[in-house]
Amino acid sequence: MKYRHQLSSDITCTDHLGKIVCVGRNYADHAKELNNPIPNEPLLFIKPATAAVSMLDTVTIPEGRGACHHELEMAVLIGTELSAKTAAMQDEDILSSIAGVGLALDLTLRDVQDELKEKGQPWERAKAFDGSCPLSNFVGVDGVDLQDLPIQLYRNGQLQQLGNTVDMLFSVINLLRDISSIFTLLPGDVVLTGTPAGVGPLLKGDKLKGTLDSLICVETLVVS
Ligand code: ZN
Repeated sequence: MKYRHQLSSDITCTDHLGKIVCVGRNYADHAKELNNPIPNEPLLFIKPATAAVSMLDTVTIPEGRGACHHELEMAVLIGTELSAKTAAMQDEDILSSIAGVGLALDLTLRDVQDELKEKGQPWERAKAFDGSCPLSNFVGVDGVDLQDLPIQLYRNGQLQQLGNTVDMLFSVINLLRDISSIFTLLPGDVVLTGTPAGVGPLLKGDKLKGTLDSLICVETLVVS
């Protein structure tokens, strides 16, 4: 079944997903846990629309390709177009282009990614496979401070990832300004804002619960 955004009633936005733009190493503690340097500009990559599935269904991990890690991330849903032409916009105008916020899992074949990194190759084989981006429902952002939201992932009842969006190296506004200077962001596109520390392998049968402050709470089951 083709993925469609699940939007709360206060969001007016298309439910059609175009592309998913992702940011690597946007939390210093996560960059550190994988022995990566802290970037001086956002590290960007893209997942195709075929990567998206609803996190309200089960999450499927590929078999026979090494460890598949969870990276829980705040996901921002774009409501109005942002492009190089609008990059000089005021912060408030960039903020008002955001239709909603949710959670995403940036599923990552870590062994594959390590090999690609070693060879200096792009990460798509590790991060852009079908189903590599489970997405929660989205809720509106009126009155929400996007840079002050606790984000948590529980795996089988154990707290695995704990962060706060205040610790992002590049704020949502700065990310959108930078990303849209390179790729035009269209209504329905989603931006993943990076993962805090605590990433680790998923196993078939794992029960996951992700929360973004009190805005989003989503539970899912890992299958293969
Ligand atoms: Zn990620």
